[in-house]
Amino acid sequence: MKRILLRNGTIVNSCKITKMDILILSETIEQIGENLPIENGVEILDCSGKLIFPGIIDSHTHMGVPIKSGFSADNFETGTKSAVHGGVTTILDFTILDENQTLRQSIESRKFDAAKSICDYNLHCNITQYSEEILSEIPILIETGITSFKIFTTYEEAGMMLYYEQIQRIAQAISAHDGLLMVHAEDDEILRNAMLPFKTKFITDPFYHALSRPDDAEAVAIQKIGEISEKTGCRIYIVHLSSAKGLETAKQFENLVVETCPQYLFLDENIYKKDDGRMFVASPPLRKRHDNDELWGGILDGSISTIGTDHCPFFEKPREIHFSDIPNGIGGVETLFPILLAQWILRKLDLRLLSKLLCKNPANVFGLSHRKGTIQIGKDADFAIVNPKEIHMNWENSLVSAVNWNAFTNFPACFPNHVFRRGDWIVKDSRLQTGSKGVFVKSKFP
Ligand SMILES: [Zn+2]
Repeated sequence: MKRILLRNGTIVNSCKITKMDILILSETIEQIGENLPIENGVEILDCSGKLIFPGIIDSHTHMGVPIKSGFSADNFETGTKSAVHGGVTTILDFTILDENQTLRQSIESRKFDAAKSICDYNLHCNITQYSEEILSEIPILIETGITSFKIFTTYEEAGMMLYYEQIQRIAQAISAHDGLLMVHAEDDEILRNAMLPFKTKFITDPFYHALSRPDDAEAVAIQKIGEISEKTGCRIYIVHLSSAKGLETAKQFENLVVETCPQYLFLDENIYKKDDGRMFVASPPLRKRHDNDELWGGILDGSISTIGTDHCPFFEKPREIHFSDIPNGIGGVETLFPILLAQWILRKLDLRLLSKLLCKNPANVFGLSHRKGTIQIGKDADFAIVNPKEIHMNWENSLVSAVNWNAFTNFPACFPNHVFRRGDWIVKDSRLQTGSKGVFVKSKFP
């Protein structure tokens, strides 16, 4: 059986930072300790001066999703190659529920696509239609290791929206079986009213994307969802929180778990005025500098629990179309950890907090902590190993992403030198080693 000894590295867990050796045996962590003995046949990686993070978990990706005119740019293979290059070893992606499909069928077809994933993975089950049958599937799915269900409070025209009364019924069903409800929180009525003045005019300027999706829509939806969480006792996860108002509202509810994304921490709406502004169109839209600052506050005070990417890149977005038809989504899975780590180091923030946001918390929230999220004996041997002195600016050419455009080009980044996923050395001296595949990891709660 394969044995690899990581020597003299600094382990960054969410609870503490320690200088220890790690012995990998096959897929898991066999031993952790000071000066572990070097046995015959063991491969050695000197990690002196390096930080060893648990493999990063991106709790929010969309690999190869259908849009009006084709698919988003990354499929499970290309997207997860770029993910591991950036230290992400586990992703949580979403199912796509076609008309007349059962939830189980939607999971089976998405699992078929995800078989190409290099990262280990679990799936959030999208519920974009409502029926009694669908409600009855929820407990069965939780039993099989799919415990998180996602709904939208908007996108009626795309046939994805559920009404608040329906959401409450779903929350009840999920809560009764200790699952998790995830919500895209933008109130549809507010969005429709905000869009009214622009709808009939042919406006292509992407700045209107921000104008037409005000932060009130987020705050109002979170208020209503928060009330549902109180009535039903359901734990509810707010995906991609974007605004200060939304955060203030979310803080009032104990059962809400909040995720934000790098774009809402680092970028603001003025970027829509740039020549490639349309490339930054995603929903919710980028907000104001004030919102960036408040979200950073939420990161530091613990009111935001995770940072996912909402990874959904496009090769190109057409210019001459109405701004509301610009494909929604930007990539980020490859830069998630490198960009945040560089900020953490430059701002001298506590590295344990980064480990918590990107590893421990997503593992806990999504029922993966029996294998992921912490460097501990018996857990999967997933690591992102970095040299904190290697913070670079011109890293764009080293990306392995299939997409030749990146939202975070002007930010410093610290990319991992080595990445292990279940003991497989898939990034070695910053180079991707191909061949091994990820597996479906069941979600379960202790
Ligand atoms: Zn998303």
